[in-house]
Amino acid sequence: MRQPLIAGNWKMNSSKADTTDLLNGIKAGIGEIRQAAVAVCPPFPYLYLAEEMLAGTAIAYGSQDLSPEPEGAFTGQVSAAMLKDFGCTYAIIGHSERRLFNAETDDIIAQKYAQAVKHGLTPILCVGETLEERESGKTEEVVAKHLDGVLDAHGVEAFKQGVIAYEPVWAIGTGVTATPEQAQDVHAFLRGRIAAKSQQVADLVQILYGGSMKPNNAEELIGQTDIDGGLIGGAALKAADFLAICKAGDANA
Ligand code: PEP
Repeated sequence: MRQPLIAGNWKMNSSKADTTDLLNGIKAGIGEIRQAAVAVCPPFPYLYLAEEMLAGTAIAYGSQDLSPEPEGAFTGQVSAAMLKDFGCTYAIIGHSERRLFNAETDDIIAQKYAQAVKHGLTPILCVGETLEERESGKTEEVVAKHLDGVLDAHGVEAFKQGVIAYEPVWAIGTGVTATPEQAQDVHAFLRGRIAAKSQQVADLVQILYGGSMKPNNAEELIGQTDIDGGLIGGAALKAADFLAICKAGDANA
């Protein structure tokens, strides 16, 4: 049985004051979450607050990105070792907003994945198709390509130390959620692709759904056989909503 994971992707939102409030709000309710693993991914500058405020709690934290390089003359980048230094557990890799706005390729994302694993971080590899790709019947082709970027570079064993997030681009921040059946189909496809190389890894790897997951749809989505939790954007910015989704994770543990 895979443990559900609920991870919040705060994107470029928050401030020192907002981060403090949000973390306090999540801390206040985390005692009621018994089974699901919970993580928050604030912007880089606020990771120090996560380190200070989440010490000794069951709430893990991580980054929204990291450098594909280990160290050196890479102005503006943040290395895996630095994130580990701040106590991060997770690093989101290959989010569609980074693929789109920062021209990240599957090769770069595979390098980031390797950096994360090398430094003891758990990468959350995002895969997902655009609306146009879905409507032209290319969903499986696209998510397979995103998955294969890491599979081909590092082998199936790399997914023993990683998490996958299926995030249909058309559902991110739009309020349109994939139906549980649509999401389950893609999750099953992804797990099957891993199972073709190793059934053991396929049984182990957590595959999260992301894309307008909210308190009112989380339980049904996470209740699907191959959906092991959620990567949450907008709803992760309100402690009550985020905690309600964590409870949906608990209910499906
Ligand atoms: C995301 O961008 O990772 C995400 C899932 O966003 P939202 O929940 O707002 O759709």
